Amino acid sequence: MKFNLWTISGMMAAACGVMPTQAQEVKGYTDTEKLPGVEYTVHDPRRPQPRIIETAGAVVVKPPSDATVLFDGTSLDAWTQGGGPAQWPVKDGAFIADGKDIQTKESFGAIQLHFEWRLPAGRKVGGQFGGNSGVYLMGLYEVQVLQSHNNKTYPDGQAGSLYGQLPPLVNATSPQGEWQSYDIAFEPPVYEGEKVITPAKITIIHNGVFVQHASLYLGPTQHKILATYPAKHPETGPLRLQFHGDPMEYRNFWVRPLGQRDQPTAP
Ligand code: MG
Repeated sequence: MKFNLWTISGMMAAACGVMPTQAQEVKGYTDTEKLPGVEYTVHDPRRPQPRIIETAGAVVVKPPSDATVLFDGTSLDAWTQGGGPAQWPVKDGAFIADGKDIQTKESFGAIQLHFEWRLPAGRKVGGQFGGNSGVYLMGLYEVQVLQSHNNKTYPDGQAGSLYGQLPPLVNATSPQGEWQSYDIAFEPPVYEGEKVITPAKITIIHNGVFVQHASLYLGPTQHKILATYPAKHPETGPLRLQFHGDPMEYRNFWVRPLGQRDQPTAP
């Protein structure tokens, strides 16, 4: 029997218990825990699909003078992989997901982040398979990177979602083979002792469009499990890029730590 990626993906999906729904060909999970405050489960295929919009594509922002450049088109020196040098191939000013996750050498807390991503044209994509990667803020909080143009999946797993928690406001994904941009503002959770008093907060602009605005994480990202906050939490952590079996390309990757100011308060 001849196997291609598609049949293997299908077998993996079946082995994982992914259930298709009748009304639409969206795969997801209905045997997971219910998300608090909404009617849906983690990775629920019945959750409404975000409205699809067209954009002008990637908004290319060059790094400002105070940015930490994590990839300048030539070198992955700012990254590590399994304790050694990052081995993702660099080609034509981009780097390509390969082998296993990579993470930054430096750790960050509250940040502004910019990068551009692209799934090469011609690759077969279906749901979570074929065009999946992601960036984990502090190594814990995934912003999903998924080729979601003409590709339905459970909404809390599509491009711009807080994976397993919150779909994007709209689906702003470009056609496969085109560069796309994410501009992100992220703040870590604030703890008082072992209790979270302010959850981790994120704003995501996808191709110039707000797809998350001051959205709150339920906790560090989980797969098929309801996320909750641990009693202890680091103040900073590395950015981690997910290798999910697909050759997602990245370029123009930079970050700026967000500073603090004295905030005036109403009397
Ligand atoms: Mg992912």
